[in-house]
Amino acid sequence: MNFDSDIKYLRGVGEKRAAMLAKLGISALRDLLTFYPRLYEDWSNITAIKDAVFGEQVCIRAIAGSRCREHRIRKGMTLYKTEVTDGEDLIDITFFNNKYAAEMIEQGKEYLFYGRITGKGYFRTMNSPEFTEFKGKGELRAIYPQTAGLNSRAIEKLIKTAFESCADYPDPIPEDIREAYCLMKYKDALLNIHFPENPDMLAEARRRLIFEELFLLELGMLRLREKSRASNASALEKDYTGEFFSLLPFELTNAQKNAIADSASDMMLSRPMNRLLQGDVGSGKTAVSAALIYNCAKNGFQSALMAPTEVLAAQHFKTMTKFFENTDIKISLLTGSTPAAEKKKIKAAVKSGETDLLIGTHAIIQKDVEFSSLALAVTDEQHRFGVNQRGALSSKGTSPHTLVMSATPIPRTLALIIYGDLDLSILNEMPKGRQKTETFLIKSEIRERAYGYIKKHLCQGMQGYIVCPLVAESEASELTAANELYKKLSDGFFKGFTVGLLHGKMKPAEKKTVMDSFAAGETQLLISTTVIEVGIDVPNAVIMVIENAERFGLSQLHQLRGRIGRGTEKSTCIMISDSGDEHTLERLNIMTETTDGFKIADEDLRLRGPGDFFGSRQHGLPDLKIADMMTDGEAIRETHAAATELLKKNPTLSGGNYDLLRNAVNMLFSKGISMN
Ligand code: ADP
Ligand code: MG
Repeated sequence: MNFDSDIKYLRGVGEKRAAMLAKLGISALRDLLTFYPRLYEDWSNITAIKDAVFGEQVCIRAIAGSRCREHRIRKGMTLYKTEVTDGEDLIDITFFNNKYAAEMIEQGKEYLFYGRITGKGYFRTMNSPEFTEFKGKGELRAIYPQTAGLNSRAIEKLIKTAFESCADYPDPIPEDIREAYCLMKYKDALLNIHFPENPDMLAEARRRLIFEELFLLELGMLRLREKSRASNASALEKDYTGEFFSLLPFELTNAQKNAIADSASDMMLSRPMNRLLQGDVGSGKTAVSAALIYNCAKNGFQSALMAPTEVLAAQHFKTMTKFFENTDIKISLLTGSTPAAEKKKIKAAVKSGETDLLIGTHAIIQKDVEFSSLALAVTDEQHRFGVNQRGALSSKGTSPHTLVMSATPIPRTLALIIYGDLDLSILNEMPKGRQKTETFLIKSEIRERAYGYIKKHLCQGMQGYIVCPLVAESEASELTAANELYKKLSDGFFKGFTVGLLHGKMKPAEKKTVMDSFAAGETQLLISTTVIEVGIDVPNAVIMVIENAERFGLSQLHQLRGRIGRGTEKSTCIMISDSGDEHTLERLNIMTETTDGFKIADEDLRLRGPGDFFGSRQHGLPDLKIADMMTDGEAIRETHAAATELLKKNPTLSGGNYDLLRNAVNMLFSKGISMN
């Protein structure tokens, strides 16, 4: 067999197992051999029986005093027991209903037993331990993610068989690079990641595999960017942003001014700008993009503004229309739901150059939208877009300057991968006059008081949100919940007030009507699912009640809460949860303590772990199997340098030496780019 052979031909894999393995994403030998363990049991650290602490996982080295004896204690329950000794103390080893394991223990042989110590006083026992015959040294044993019916040990066994069967291990890293960075050979690395010879070899194996993973990623990303940079961008001649300031109803913050000035000077070069604008919810990112759009239009160029949802695109359209009402800047909105005839007209106007600013969802990156002179592409709430989508926008005809706006703080190391040598502007300052949103956590039994508090605000001419309970994973039932709550409240507690309903299953046109009415102040209370999470801006909305707050992640709660506290009035967020879970309460309490998005993101990371936070859903990168964006910063820098250097010498990775590498990169980015 070789690396790419189908797993079903591996000894020990039948149809049933193949199906289970498929659930773990394993279909070829390659997938199995690169199914890396995340954890290791330390069987090299042997504890003396007398030192073994109750309740803890330990590894003991002991000789079996006898074979296991069978005790049938009741129907369906048989114990197998033996006593083992490490020469000083004795301890019982017990197996439940596991005759197979019990019979493997032979009298007088020495084993390593790994498990938890239970029992009291002298009657200590290790129940259902894992064990292996002691062969002169302890070992590190891999633990694999499991699927129903396939436990870690079964996977370990399959991997062992795979090593016995596999004839070749094609190494994507060419020898010269392996030598330059002192990396292990591929097969050795794979062997040691699964069956470490010792902790040092394991560390080296990890280093090599992390290097490989990040190296491929870097090569692909650099290549992607190189493509978007290959052509020249339009260099703007004059900086008109100062003129724009006088159109605004407010004074920009210094942070906003700096971001605008830096971008404007970038855009005077023909080298495409590549800038990330990072600012917490409500920090005023839209106004920054407006200044740059204005600048483009005055210089005779077009801009595109992309939002992740139609609701948000429609809102941007409104905001921009207002910003530019006393100018001759022409704005169009193009979304999936724009009627066909209208679409045609808009596209024609974009193509002829009549339209200065095209706003839309990803529909505007479709191939048949042609610009006559696109100089600036803005993407809002970047984390919602995949890498490939962004690439598509940047590669439209010319290479426009790009501004990416995001409220999600991205660690520098991750930004380096996604954006390479991007420039960063941070809005670390809130517009003047903002008051901190106060946040409370209450139990559902006093929900009516929260509603009463909303009512009080509605009576004073302000507006509010109630965010519906998130129902377990089903959009349909979420819809029902929203509908029911809407009916109940509009007919009950909030009778006499104008109540609106917004949910994800509504047609875009319906959504728009609801949002327009809310933005105009006609609708006083908006009952909504999480579709309001991103970007909605209605400064008169000052109160929000979040049902089932425990179901939301921290960052999501922060985004939701960001819908209020956008004006000068004091805002209040009330989270309702009856959860008694300690971790959940810890999470929710963080919300009551801080409104700082960066702090919240850190906590989110701490509580959920980076794997989750940086899932591919967030940034559109291929999933990482072994590298960790948070902790492998050093490796990220190293591979970034290595990839940059290699591409400088050999931009298309041509030559037989690089065949495997080139293919591996192409495979990783199978939908997006290719190296040639
Ligand atoms: P975000 O960064 O979350 O996208 P927005 O751009 O939607 O924030 O801005 C939030 C609100 O703050 C908007 O109503 C906007 O008009 C207002 N705003 C932006 N900049 C300022 C400023 N410098 N002073 C006062 N209000 C501002
Ligand atoms: Mg925004």
